[in-house]
Amino acid sequence: MTARVVIVGNGMAGARLAGELHAREGDRKVTVLGAEPHRAYNRILLSTLLAGRIDEPDVELTEAAGHGIDLRTGVPVTAIDRSAREVHTDGERIGYDHLVLATGARAVVPPLPGLDPADLPERVVPFRTLDDCRRILAAADGARSALVLGGGLLGLEAARGLASRGLTTTVVHPREHLMERQLDPAAGAVLAGTLAGFGVTVQLAVPATGVAADADGVRLDLADGRTLHADLLVLSCGVRPDTALAQAAGLTVRRGVVVDDRLRTDDRSISAIGDCAEHDGVLSGLVAPAWAQARVLADVLTGTDPLARYRPQPVVTRLKAAGIDLASMGDPVSGGPGEELTFTDPARGTYARLRIRDERLIGAILLGDNPAVGTVIQLFDRGHPVPADRRALLLGRALGTTGATPAASPALMPDAATVCQCNTVSKGALVRSWRSGARTVDAVVAATRAGTGCGGCRDAVGGIVDWLSQAESVEVTR
Ligand SMILES: Cc1cc2nc3c(=O)[nH]c(=O)nc-3n(C[C@H](O)[C@H](O)[C@H](O)COP(=O)(O)OP(=O)(O)OC[C@H]3O[C@@H](n4cnc5c(N)ncnc54)[C@H](O)[C@@H]3O)c2cc1C
Repeated sequence: MTARVVIVGNGMAGARLAGELHAREGDRKVTVLGAEPHRAYNRILLSTLLAGRIDEPDVELTEAAGHGIDLRTGVPVTAIDRSAREVHTDGERIGYDHLVLATGARAVVPPLPGLDPADLPERVVPFRTLDDCRRILAAADGARSALVLGGGLLGLEAARGLASRGLTTTVVHPREHLMERQLDPAAGAVLAGTLAGFGVTVQLAVPATGVAADADGVRLDLADGRTLHADLLVLSCGVRPDTALAQAAGLTVRRGVVVDDRLRTDDRSISAIGDCAEHDGVLSGLVAPAWAQARVLADVLTGTDPLARYRPQPVVTRLKAAGIDLASMGDPVSGGPGEELTFTDPARGTYARLRIRDERLIGAILLGDNPAVGTVIQLFDRGHPVPADRRALLLGRALGTTGATPAASPALMPDAATVCQCNTVSKGALVRSWRSGARTVDAVVAATRAGTGCGGCRDAVGGIVDWLSQAESVEVTR
């Protein structure tokens, strides 16, 4: 049994691991050292905070608070002494039996003239931390226009948020179309049209060449000779795993800290989870894998399930931007054998693409209002055969008796269907929590954690709780 566990990083992975360790039996001391001055918060919800749809207290994560966990915020770890099994902070050495690196990732500041990562101008802000979000909001206060460099998921969420605050917003993206990792060119074009309707202009296929900022505003120079001006510039140019500590300690680092299925590095006393970890050549960069890794590591470290192993699950990406429904999953873009079905209706901002191989979905893009989105995600998640009538999925029409199950009615949803992607909570788990006495949405959420990640499944959880209440009242009055 591990006696002293030290976790470096109080982000979404580190805080969750502390909570998972606390929930398991055993006598151990858990110390969490976090560089940020804040208690743990839900980084995913920063986009929603930026958009003004929630307030700062709503992003706090409470699971690692209290519980006898020695939580120290504003304490960066500066070095790891592997032979002494100690980590160093400014002024202290803390011993460990097992060390967990959960140092996450940092926003990339592009190497442009006028941008010094160590000394960014006040009106130029990356988008990764709560402090970044506060700085963007401070700069946006009283501003009339904003530029966002980077047309990936986070850049678009930031742009939509700033536009909803009334700023004239322009996204500058060096690639040919938006979100090129998740979308094909046709979907990118429909999305650009939808964004235009919300006051977000998109400049594509044009790299930035320089930035100049002073108290009056920001100037962004483009490779085609144009110059754009605005009151603030948000940098959303990707993230890089924070591997400095691991590298300095001599652990194997490629793009991230290399870990095996048990999340162990090449030092058996040190593990890594979350955005800083590289498993099987993959950097996950998302919260569902980070939380799954925290679960597996807690099982292994506490001996609850020494055979637990991390197995990556298929990933579904959803854009969190008011008025824009977008889900992308698997590999919807690259060619290869199989069926490819697309439907485009730019006037309605609707686009759908399904890639099917051996009667299974291997990738999909659903943009705009498509009532089949829940069903498509379930089919993809579970690897179930798609219905014979593919149009039902593509166009979102009611499904026939084809073997696929409509997501609309909780009664017809299979128990194994994943409702909360971030926490991997199935409908069956929600029903079980209800049967164990959780009788409100809040109680079911507290019992299962469903809805505590991006929050995108809250309506679905509410629908299941409503359905259970009604089913029970029918049973009682019968
Ligand atoms: C605006 C935004 C929206 C997002 N939306 C989604 C989404 O919808 N869905 C999704 O799945 N993912 C989303 N993500 C990504 C998600 O937030 C990350 O995958 C997740 O936060 C990873 O958790 P982590 O703990 O590994 O890293 P982090 O949450 O980055 O936490 C790492 C922590 O370690 C600390 N740290 C680093 N070095 C040290 C050190 N030497 N000593 C002490 N502490 C240290 C850092 O300060 C930080 O607090 C979003 C990210 C952002 C920024």
